[in-house]
Amino acid sequence: MSTDKTAVTNYTKEELQSIIKPSYRSKQVFGWIYQKYINSFDDMKNLPKGLRDELKEKYLLKSLKILAKEESRDGSIKYLFGLKNDLSIEAVLLPMKKEIKDVDGNIVQSAKYTICISSQVGCKIGCAFCLTAKEGFKKNLSAGEIVEQVLEIKKDNNIAFNKKVNIVFMGMGEPLDNMENVVKAVKIFSDPDGLCISPRRQTISTSGLSKQIEKLGKMNLGVLLAISLHAVDDELRERLMPINKAYNIASVLDAVRNFPIDARKRVMFEYLVIKDLNDDIKSAKKLVKLLHGIKAKVNLIYFNSYPNSPFCRPKENKMLSFQSYMREHGVTCTIRESKGLDISAACGQLYEKSEKIKIT
Ligand code: SAH
Ligand code: SF4
Repeated sequence: MSTDKTAVTNYTKEELQSIIKPSYRSKQVFGWIYQKYINSFDDMKNLPKGLRDELKEKYLLKSLKILAKEESRDGSIKYLFGLKNDLSIEAVLLPMKKEIKDVDGNIVQSAKYTICISSQVGCKIGCAFCLTAKEGFKKNLSAGEIVEQVLEIKKDNNIAFNKKVNIVFMGMGEPLDNMENVVKAVKIFSDPDGLCISPRRQTISTSGLSKQIEKLGKMNLGVLLAISLHAVDDELRERLMPINKAYNIASVLDAVRNFPIDARKRVMFEYLVIKDLNDDIKSAKKLVKLLHGIKAKVNLIYFNSYPNSPFCRPKENKMLSFQSYMREHGVTCTIRESKGLDISAACGQLYEKSEKIKIT
């Protein structure tokens, strides 16, 4: 039955080498899928017909289908992908720089992209502010389902295979709760015969599973780390993120201190700013203290409200004073642009609206 077949995108090139003989064929298969963007095994022209038929017989070429997409005024495009069993996930293409051409049509500034991807359908962590949490946990994504989000978005936007893109695991789900498949996806993304995305362009965002951060660090993959901190004292963090009961702030920071990072890079701390809860200077002061000795950068995120959300968006002047305080005290601090705000920026929000905007 075709539904029981596995997609080839689940395999690293090394794994394919043990399945497809002779082994150099796996490099060709990778090239066809990730660089030439073919849509059928039959298009793998330099493969013998017998091998193409065998692949067709045993595997699927892809496991995701674009169900809907929504473009924001700022150019970001949010995708809703369908999986088996009527499940769906989101990913977002965020153009960081637009392509600019001169009068003769020469490109004077090339476009830059970041793709935000999901790692699970739903999430077990249950943060109080997050829409994904409301859906509960449905399943871990396979490596192929993770990899294909980037592949399909690149294809859909005619982004050439060798165009550098950044990947952030900041969509639905907790990546370190699906460690095995996320690590496999990182390896597939990085393959020079495939999407060629250096691990230094891949950021794994976590709610702070300290043990898993340590484990990931020991693998020395070269990926970047982002920590969703959101609060500076354990009491508030527990309220916002129940995971803090198992891994408190101190344990997360310890794990970060042991995490190997490129000398030119920093660990990103995401701080979701919620009106009247964590937007005061006292919190900023405590944050500076907590991050002492860590090569950190802080990203302040506006809480994005949604129907019946329990919290409110902070005032702009509060965000700016918080940022100034951090900068005055030597901490690199940015405010996350509200990219895609008009298309509901935070994870889980397209999913909720999907029924209204399905594309056939
Ligand atoms: N589970 C991981 C990866 C998902 S990231 C993590 O939590 O780090 C999802 C990001 O979306 C997190 O940084 C989270 O803070 C942010 N987010 C969730 N709900 C949000 C909301 N309502 N407004 C703004 N950002 C939100
Ligand atoms: Fe899960 Fe991250 Fe949402 Fe928390 S913020 S529920 S960890 S996806």
